[in-house]
Amino acid sequence: MGILEVKNVGKRFGGLQALGDVNLSVKENTVHAIIGPNGAGKSTLLNCLVGKLIPDTGSVMFDGQSVLGRAPYEINQMGISRVFQTPEIFGDLTVMENMLIPCFAKRDGAFELNAIGSVSGQKDVLEKAEAMLVDMNMADKRHMHAAAMSRGDKRRLEIGMCLSQEPRLLLLDEPTAGMARADTNNTIDLLKQIKEERDITIAIIEHDMHVVFSLADRITVLAQGTPLVEDDPQNIKGNPKVREAYLGE
Ligand code: ADP
Ligand code: MG
Repeated sequence: MGILEVKNVGKRFGGLQALGDVNLSVKENTVHAIIGPNGAGKSTLLNCLVGKLIPDTGSVMFDGQSVLGRAPYEINQMGISRVFQTPEIFGDLTVMENMLIPCFAKRDGAFELNAIGSVSGQKDVLEKAEAMLVDMNMADKRHMHAAAMSRGDKRRLEIGMCLSQEPRLLLLDEPTAGMARADTNNTIDLLKQIKEERDITIAIIEHDMHVVFSLADRITVLAQGTPLVEDDPQNIKGNPKVREAYLGE
């Protein structure tokens, strides 16, 4: 049994069957990549896992509990955290202020904006945010405006913000989309570090095969809303069905 078990999930948008019959099992403490051509249904699948969409059919179990019918914040509290395609950080706040938000939210179950102004007496939260910035190797940027950082550093901050919620499953939808090579490599290094140092499972949707083959323990190829093949990276590389569907050969 995987920590995430998706069974027979289908999702239709009007006349379009975005997901046909998706089965997916993500094993604990692995990096599982989901790849496939544009429009294959990858983001739709991810949205079904975090409560943003409700599938028409099938089941989604996380650690033995159904996520279906739960609100996104409830699923987040169950231990699933999601990184968006465009970094979801607060550009007008400093790096440290950004990091404080999920730390307060984790401790208090909610976040009040004025908490940032009165943080000096909140040693536990401050220390946690500081430790996460050190872990993310961005402690020297703590006073920087988040908007002024490079794309790779914004992504690094956002991933750190997700990790402060202490998720057991981290979901990433094309985390290196639109990045320059240096920022992509920076993101690969960070995800490798997280994989090695933390007790966490990662499911990643990714277009860039360099990223996929640098990180994945297991790969599912989705084509037209249905898993085409699931295998280890070395077998995916040479699979003719994958080359045909994904590389258009
Ligand atoms: P991928 O992430 O693999 O590129 P998506 O899951 O975004 O694919 O989309 C799968 C299909 O579903 C596409 O044809 C897309 O246009 C369609 N689709 C996605 N979201 C919606 C929506 N909210 N309403 C209607 N169609 C959608
Ligand atoms: Mg997508």
